[in-house]
Amino acid sequence: MKVTGIKELFKKHGALLSGHFLLSSGLHSDTYFQSALILQHPHEAERLAETLAEKVMREVPDVDVVVSPAIGGIVIGQEVAAQLGTRAIFAERADGKLVLRRGFHIEKGEKCLIVEDVITTGLSTKEVKEVVETSGGKTAAVCCLVDRSGGSIEFGVPKFSLLEIEAVNYKPEECPMCKEGGTPVKPGSRTKQQNGKQEQKQEQKQEQKQEQKQEQKQEQGESK
Ligand SMILES: [Zn+2]
Repeated sequence: MKVTGIKELFKKHGALLSGHFLLSSGLHSDTYFQSALILQHPHEAERLAETLAEKVMREVPDVDVVVSPAIGGIVIGQEVAAQLGTRAIFAERADGKLVLRRGFHIEKGEKCLIVEDVITTGLSTKEVKEVVETSGGKTAAVCCLVDRSGGSIEFGVPKFSLLEIEAVNYKPEECPMCKEGGTPVKPGSRTKQQNGKQEQKQEQKQEQKQEQKQEQKQEQGESK
């Protein structure tokens, strides 16, 4: 059964929140999307995948393999592949770089469909595309549940999504919600695999900050 009212469905499962959020990237946003909260229901994952796969098939009918970035893209990638009758593989991070492991491979010339849960900056999608192409495959199309860029990011291949939202991200110092006196909330922490490099950088920054704080404390003679 296909899905209508995607936005309402996401909201119903608490996967799409409106408010004032602190993203893992350090940016503030008025929108937060946590796909795991809807994909934890297999029947919903299946319906979403069916709707997405049908969109893809109409324009790109001959996909050989679905490739997703771990972890966020795995569940929806598997479900979309089930609809298309193809293999589903995923790229995961090793030493900060997305790679195929576990014996996964792409045959030369295989047409690959990149499946993501959420596209925000498009960085991980571009990385998966690189993995596909360096493996000898061809990127046939990109698809995702939610395109947070409002459809503005291009990958040079057809792109499909179930929902385009223009989520606005702000640097903390420029955030209008903060200027109005609000405090951002950090929803259930996102896995670092979803945002890849950005979040790793953020983690490094946080670690550096913590180290700095510890150093300061030591300098100030505060001990615990
Ligand atoms: Zn803010």
